[in-house]
Amino acid sequence: MDIITTSAKMAEYITNLKKQKCKISYVPTMGDLHDGHISLIQSAKKEKSKTIVSIFVNPLQFNDKSDYENYPVTTEKDLEKLIVNNVDCLFLPAKNNILDNLEEYKINKLPDFLNCLCGKFRPNHFEGVYSIVRKLFDLVNPDYVYFGEKDYQQALLIKHIIKNSYNNKINLIICETIRDEFGLAMSSRNNRLSNQQKKIASNIIKELMKIRTKIHNEGVSLFNDLRKEAIKVLEEFGMRVEYLELLTSEKLDKSEDKNNNYMIFIAVYLSDVRLIDNLKI
Ligand code: AMP
Repeated sequence: MDIITTSAKMAEYITNLKKQKCKISYVPTMGDLHDGHISLIQSAKKEKSKTIVSIFVNPLQFNDKSDYENYPVTTEKDLEKLIVNNVDCLFLPAKNNILDNLEEYKINKLPDFLNCLCGKFRPNHFEGVYSIVRKLFDLVNPDYVYFGEKDYQQALLIKHIIKNSYNNKINLIICETIRDEFGLAMSSRNNRLSNQQKKIASNIIKELMKIRTKIHNEGVSLFNDLRKEAIKVLEEFGMRVEYLELLTSEKLDKSEDKNNNYMIFIAVYLSDVRLIDNLKI
């Protein structure tokens, strides 16, 4: 596996691949790789292409300084996983290499679907995601990019970026959420939970599934009552629910039309660990 640590070397590497007419499959990550990340890499490996993974903990997307400072860095272990999974290239840039000269990648106004959910509760989060994703995409020049459905609002932003800045020339593959043995959506932050806490956190998806079943049987109009019930259950387990919303999957709004596809979105805190999840209705 090639390991590249500067933007200049990366640009050179990509130019070479393009000269050889190679397609590029790209999986951006913040490291501390788990099976969720690996599933993205395995999807990328299905294309006849070079697979490039980046590890960059983006300080601009952390609204909480201590969350950034506590973010796990496990480079040695990550390297082993990337090699086992036959990744062709790891891009592991130093912080300033990516953060310098970002002015051209600032967004003036985020699209409306970023005003709710994580966009509402994490000020400047998506502005930070936008800038770094634009910079990385320009550098890596990918044909295929892989993102997780767990971060659904982020995946919608990527779709927006590809449409507006890359003329839909990049293929976006959104991969399903991988869960641990308790049902908890995998996340690098889960390392800060004990096994007991992970079992408790598995009630998040259980509550979403309960809501889904009841909505299937009795319709979306029941959601407000179901929401209250679920929040009560999760609070009894010691979690604090930041949001629990039923929104359309395309625009993340509340418009009611029987042709709409809906999803339920949730963010909770268990101790100081923030967990998100979602479920299609
Ligand atoms: P992160 O390293 O947390 O920035 O995540 C990198 C990519 O992995 C993002 O596209 C995430 O949506 C995706 N991802 C994170 N957790 C999971 C999961 N449990 N299942 C599938 N994809 C995931």
